[in-house]
Amino acid sequence: MKKIEEIPAIEGGKPVRDRYLPYGRQWLDESDRKAVLEILDGDYITTGPAITQFEEKVATYVGAKYAVAFANGTAALHAACFSAGIGKGDEVITTPMTFVATANAILYTRGTPVFADIDPNTYNINPDAIESRITERTKAILPVDFAGQPVNHEEIKRIAKMHQLVVIEDAAHALGATYNGVKIGSLSDMSVFSFHPVKPITTGEGGIITTNNETYYEKLIQFRTHGITRNPQRCSYFEGPWYYEMQFLGFNYRMTDFQAALGISQMNKLDRFNERRRKIASRYDAAFQNIKSIVIPQQLSNIESSWHLYVIRLVPERLCVDRKKIYEALQAENIGVNVHYRPVYTHLYYQQLGYQKGICPIAEKCYEQMITLPLFPAMTEQDIQDVIHSVRKVLNYYAK
Ligand SMILES: *Cc1c(COP(=O)(O)O)cnc(C)c1O
Repeated sequence: MKKIEEIPAIEGGKPVRDRYLPYGRQWLDESDRKAVLEILDGDYITTGPAITQFEEKVATYVGAKYAVAFANGTAALHAACFSAGIGKGDEVITTPMTFVATANAILYTRGTPVFADIDPNTYNINPDAIESRITERTKAILPVDFAGQPVNHEEIKRIAKMHQLVVIEDAAHALGATYNGVKIGSLSDMSVFSFHPVKPITTGEGGIITTNNETYYEKLIQFRTHGITRNPQRCSYFEGPWYYEMQFLGFNYRMTDFQAALGISQMNKLDRFNERRRKIASRYDAAFQNIKSIVIPQQLSNIESSWHLYVIRLVPERLCVDRKKIYEALQAENIGVNVHYRPVYTHLYYQQLGYQKGICPIAEKCYEQMITLPLFPAMTEQDIQDVIHSVRKVLNYYAK
């Protein structure tokens, strides 16, 4: 006979928690509210001085020359693809193990996403798979630092150099992560960050691109404001001080000043947030490393992850139920587990574009076994214990 506290809630037992714990969420405090209110009471609520300050703060933090803020990370990815010159027929090699926005940005500029399979240990794009996908039409590589673990920059840089490709890094998960001791944000031609509430810091909606390349920088600035320039030296013709010229089809992708103020305030806490994320991840590692029915996230020795996500993989041979059942059982304990990510090309839209299932078998297999556990800096000690308790309880109950 099982004791009542060992029976999962989904089987009629008592849930570990009464209140639902989400997988991620923002952490805002009085200093954030104050920063936003100051801007609301000032002269500029959009495209004022806070934008420049925020951009300088992020550029300095990651060690890049330039940063350009955007309305969201997806707009930033779009701008990066535009600035890299991606156009009709150009192929961009990317990972299927990401949020759809990564590949969508390639489609926005009429390029063709080409999916290369992942490394089953890090879930990051596999450099050998990148090489196998290169053709005469390949123009760029768009890797993603999955869960905050940086991609293999040495290899990606080597491949990019050999084939003269632009590297746009989707670093939406990786603000504050390091590779060989160097912060993510200066290692690629352009690095793209997101400030959605679950990301390392938040501005509500928001994104930024960091780069060391002045040409990209100028293009990004102009793309963000309709393709307009006010610089007389750059205009084909200049009538007077009121004059501006639209030179290509850009967008209104600007961030507001009060969002930038929130970003500045959040940047002050980024290292503390990430420290907390690392602590929680190592608590999980210690609690789960001897559970045979799961694989915990593997970390390479030359990187430090920003731990956006803690993704475990189930070992089907060790369990008598499938991933769906484990997922539902953890939800029933009020643990907000999630799944990151369904391979992009398996979505209906991509299937209709003609992408076949099976093109990245490792990503498809990993996807079927993955579960994301709650991980965010504002988690309390009790929250952490509840996750550990629930995972042990559910996996024990369904162990083979
Ligand atoms: C969040 C995210 C994006 C999109 O960022 P938004 O700010 O939500 O537009 C892009 N790529 C990845 C990998 C993300 O996680």
